Amino acid sequence: MKTTLSVIKADVGSIGGHVRPSAKLKDAVEHYVRDHGRGLVMDTYFASTGDDIAILMSHQHGVDNPKIHELAWNAFMAGTAVAKEQGLYGAGQDLLKDAFSGNVRGMGPASCEMEFEERTSEPFLFFAADKTDPGAYNLPLYLGFADPMHCAGLLLSPAIAKGYSFTIMDVSYTEGDRTIELKAPEELYDIACLLRDNERFVVESVHSRATGEIAAVVSTSRLHNIAGKYTGKDDPVALVRAQGSFPATGEILSPYRLAHYVAGTMRGSHNGPLMPVKLNSGVSFFDGPPVVSCGGFCVHHGKFTEVVDLFDHPFWDWVRNNAARKAAEIRMQGFSGPAMLPYSELEYGGVVEKMGQLDKRFTVRKQPAAGNGRKKKAA
Ligand code: MG
Repeated sequence: MKTTLSVIKADVGSIGGHVRPSAKLKDAVEHYVRDHGRGLVMDTYFASTGDDIAILMSHQHGVDNPKIHELAWNAFMAGTAVAKEQGLYGAGQDLLKDAFSGNVRGMGPASCEMEFEERTSEPFLFFAADKTDPGAYNLPLYLGFADPMHCAGLLLSPAIAKGYSFTIMDVSYTEGDRTIELKAPEELYDIACLLRDNERFVVESVHSRATGEIAAVVSTSRLHNIAGKYTGKDDPVALVRAQGSFPATGEILSPYRLAHYVAGTMRGSHNGPLMPVKLNSGVSFFDGPPVVSCGGFCVHHGKFTEVVDLFDHPFWDWVRNNAARKAAEIRMQGFSGPAMLPYSELEYGGVVEKMGQLDKRFTVRKQPAAGNGRKKKAA
């Protein structure tokens, strides 16, 4: 019996700006899935991260199942109705199409899914990030699966010493899914060469080279590629299997101590540190900093254990303090240089329009022609 894990998430409205969905909105989404998912899904878990709600489902229908996607879509529609009723900010903002058409991909919500034969014990981690985009997972996945500085098992465990293959997507290509598969450790430098560009190349999945099994999946959709304009950041979700032929839970989490700088935060147009936070946290400072939450589970015959909130531990308080310091540091320089994203990535049209207007006001100064009367001074 194969089990499928599906995470589908969306921002359909929040309190006090882009901060956190209301309890009533979350209830509406949960109730819809519970009431209409009977006989379809085996178990569910719901969490919010910043202004997004993620629905985690286990079932036996494989990835890209239209009924599963429709269930999530309709649940977000039910949530949107409550958001409108309550006057929440950005009601329905991630639902970019009027009618559901088979799969949420390309319609606004983000999704990631994996299907596998359950092991005797099947631990996995569910990540949800807000105020950033899918490339935020590039560095943690690279370090957690391919660098023995974080993944000690690459040295110590024969079960994972063969390494992993990375499927990387070129998310700037909009005609279809343009991907490449690269193997660690032989092609580490090629992987790094692509993953340095978080806005263009994104880890879509990771597989074990020892067993061929799926190890990790990331949502890779970019909203501005779908809508053609800013409609919110691409706030990504990810699923990662742990232990056995995969890195240990602590090895997967280790890179998050870096709180590395990622694109996002205020108006989706700045760089900020990725702060690991507890499940159901909101955002605050400068509509950020970018946040990531992580729930740990075991799934057994499709049923989830209770969740372990993996960033709810004193160690991560220290990391959060460091992330806050890093956020304050980069904010010191406001709009200048790396604090704000380059024009190609700016999510708001205002500055681009302004540049168009200013462009017309530039003049090219006439250079004096050679030999027009100015005499060169004698050396
Ligand atoms: Mg969001």
